[in-house]
Amino acid sequence: ELEVALKVVIVGDGGVGKSSMIQRYCRGTFTRDYKKTIGVDFLERQIEIDGEEVRLMLWDTAGQEEFDAITKAYYRGAHACVLAFSTTDRDSFLALHSWKLKVENECGEIPTIIVQNKIDLMDQCVVGPDEAELVARALGCRLMRASVKEDVNVGAVFRALAARCLAD
Ligand code: GDP
Ligand code: MG
Repeated sequence: ELEVALKVVIVGDGGVGKSSMIQRYCRGTFTRDYKKTIGVDFLERQIEIDGEEVRLMLWDTAGQEEFDAITKAYYRGAHACVLAFSTTDRDSFLALHSWKLKVENECGEIPTIIVQNKIDLMDQCVVGPDEAELVARALGCRLMRASVKEDVNVGAVFRALAARCLAD
């Protein structure tokens, strides 16, 4: 039986927790000053969905998102996408639409989940729950809330994406 391998791109403004999310999911670690990228294109983790082995390759950026300089190679062949924003960064929320378009331009319509990260900082929240739902609906994506720091919902995001890909 063939193993399924899925390339997942994680996009969103700098500082929302993309690298942390990948690190958390694939290595089980979290650090506060996780600045530089991992030095490789992606980290991977193998999971089982309905008895099927799935190898998830989670692609990180080396901070190029800050300069709008993500290369086509980053998006090429992606099967699924995490669109991340931060609970404490309103600009990152407002940027979701343009991130969605970039992914769509390079990959077409692929399963995408919007992740509101840093829900451990709800006391500093700058995005209303209803507007987050509205934007998710407008972009045709499921919205999930997560805390990479507290390890809340990180695994659930990638399981849901993998399940979506297998169902397609
Ligand atoms: P990236 O630029 O999107 O890759 O973001 P990073 O992964 O480098 O994270 C930026 C900062 O946010 C780092 O200091 C992380 O430790 C922090 N961070 C990431 N996820 C969380 C979270 O869920 N809660 C909190 N409080 N901080 C987080
Ligand atoms: Mg990063």
